[in-house]
Amino acid sequence: MLVLVDRDGVLNEDRPDFVKTPEELVFIPGSLEAVARLNSHGYKVVIVTNQSCIGRGLINEERLAEIHGKLHAGLSAVGGHVDYIFVAPDAPWAATEMRKPGAGMVRAALEKFRVRANDAVLIGDTAGDMKAAKTAGCRRILVRTGKGAATQAAGLDRDLLPVRVAANLSEAVRFILDEKA
Ligand SMILES: [Mg+2]
Repeated sequence: MLVLVDRDGVLNEDRPDFVKTPEELVFIPGSLEAVARLNSHGYKVVIVTNQSCIGRGLINEERLAEIHGKLHAGLSAVGGHVDYIFVAPDAPWAATEMRKPGAGMVRAALEKFRVRANDAVLIGDTAGDMKAAKTAGCRRILVRTGKGAATQAAGLDRDLLPVRVAANLSEAVRFILDEKA
């Protein structure tokens, strides 16, 4: 079982001006512990994140590695880890299939971890996340953190349903673990 997690607005606070430094990576309370719970139950956890700040020239790969260094350290401090981080660096005006709502990253994750789409669930805060998961055939959970409340209020296209809605990553993880039990 594979859990695909969007980064901004799910693990850490979303910023309209992008997370450009480790200092700007502010964890949403309980999110790191939620990943650790998945780890301890044997789930693989991967991040699938659009980082157009690279394609826009705002940060480079080296800076992104520093930001993710803080993420790895934060997870490690609570006994958690992520198995991989997929990044789509594309600017919106030069988007490839890797950039969500494209399904490229989700498909790459399924392939890398040799998981069938119906054994994977994606947790995200935008319609683009839900679309990427739906196109790849994965189950979907929308969290209300980040852009999630606005996404829910705006309504999701019928073809993206069913989507389960959770208050935050902690609750999303509870849904997943309860289903297994
Ligand atoms: Mg997001």
